[in-house]
Amino acid sequence: MKVFDQKKDNVFKILSESISEGIVIVNEKQEVVTSNEAAERMFGYGSHELLGEKLDVLIPKEYRSSHPKQVEAFMDKSDPRQMGHGRDLYGLRKDGTTFPVEAGLNPFEVYGNKYVMALVTDISIRKNQELEIIELNVSLEHKIEERTKELQKTIKELKEEVTKRKQAEHKMKESLRKERELNELKTKFLSLVSHEFKTPLSGILTSATLAGKYTETDQQDKREKHLKTIQSKVKYLNNILNDFLSIERLESGKATYKFEIFPLSKVVNEVIYNANMLLKDGQKIKYPSNIDEITVNFDEKILELSLTNLINNAIKYSPEYTTIDVVVVQKQSAIEIKIIDEGMGIPKSEQKFIFNRYFRAENALLDQGTGIGLNIVKSHLENLSGKITFESEEGKGSTFTIIFPTNNNLS
Ligand code: ADP
Repeated sequence: MKVFDQKKDNVFKILSESISEGIVIVNEKQEVVTSNEAAERMFGYGSHELLGEKLDVLIPKEYRSSHPKQVEAFMDKSDPRQMGHGRDLYGLRKDGTTFPVEAGLNPFEVYGNKYVMALVTDISIRKNQELEIIELNVSLEHKIEERTKELQKTIKELKEEVTKRKQAEHKMKESLRKERELNELKTKFLSLVSHEFKTPLSGILTSATLAGKYTETDQQDKREKHLKTIQSKVKYLNNILNDFLSIERLESGKATYKFEIFPLSKVVNEVIYNANMLLKDGQKIKYPSNIDEITVNFDEKILELSLTNLINNAIKYSPEYTTIDVVVVQKQSAIEIKIIDEGMGIPKSEQKFIFNRYFRAENALLDQGTGIGLNIVKSHLENLSGKITFESEEGKGSTFTIIFPTNNNLS
């Protein structure tokens, strides 16, 4: 301590030893002129061992090159500042190890000599803590990421579970609805059967009784007339039963279809033959031309049921001495069949309800019927990629058209 007198030196010593920061003072040549115990301990030197050493011994090699100039420039400026400026600073221990420091430089002048006092703090512990915090943060982020993934997985599983349950609930509701409808259907069937079957059955009974009375050979004509009535009424009842069976199958999801290749004329002949028994006086069915060559790949029973319903309706809702025209048009991969009648037609305001189950138009109520035929024809045809449409004018007649694919791929 050449630069301070004894008293001051002592005061400085007391002060400098009582603070935990290391103090190193260098002269213009950057030689250490004094250091406190904290600095010596920090840099691993013995008491006074640093005196006269170049400042460089406290600075790791890689930071040295630019340092002397910086110190010189700094000495000239003579205002205190913090070293590092955001960079990490390191100190070099006597044993060659380095440690992170924070250093503040304070230039001063005594008796015309310039000095710089460096206040050095060992920040190893803080740095370690910072590192630990960073590591902790990283592992925390990692954990959060993992948890988020787990959570997303759980949410996904939950969503799937919810969807499954919803589907199950929907299925249950659907089957409950079907069951309810089937029950309604059964009730309706019972009441319809009582109404709809009563008249034809009593007709059958009358005809049978009368036919039984004609015992003479020359009364064969009359007997045949009654037998025909019986036949037609049985057919009528049979058709109603078929319709009901269809509804039951459609409703319970048990409707199955069978595709077969068959000549179109086979079904058309059969339906017209049976319909002939229902014709009123003077009614005629005009057989379609050019159908002998047509074969189709379709459900034969459904085609028969559809045509029977349409032709029977045409007969039922047309007066005597009218013609029912059956027209077949072969399309590229579909067949179109039109049933054209000259009957009572369907009132415009009721046309939109005509395919609703049990719906019967106001002007048709005097004729017997259940209101289910068109509904099931539509359902079946749509299930088989077919279609039914109609045009009708009240008092003039109706045209019902069905169209169905001939090369069906369904099985
Ligand atoms: P149903 O004939 O047993 O009443 P459908 O379902 O076959 O039942 O027909 C429903 C209704 O559509 C009939 O009640 C009738 O009002 C009307 N309808 C169907 N076909 C014709 C037709 N060719 N001419 C006039 N009305 C018809």
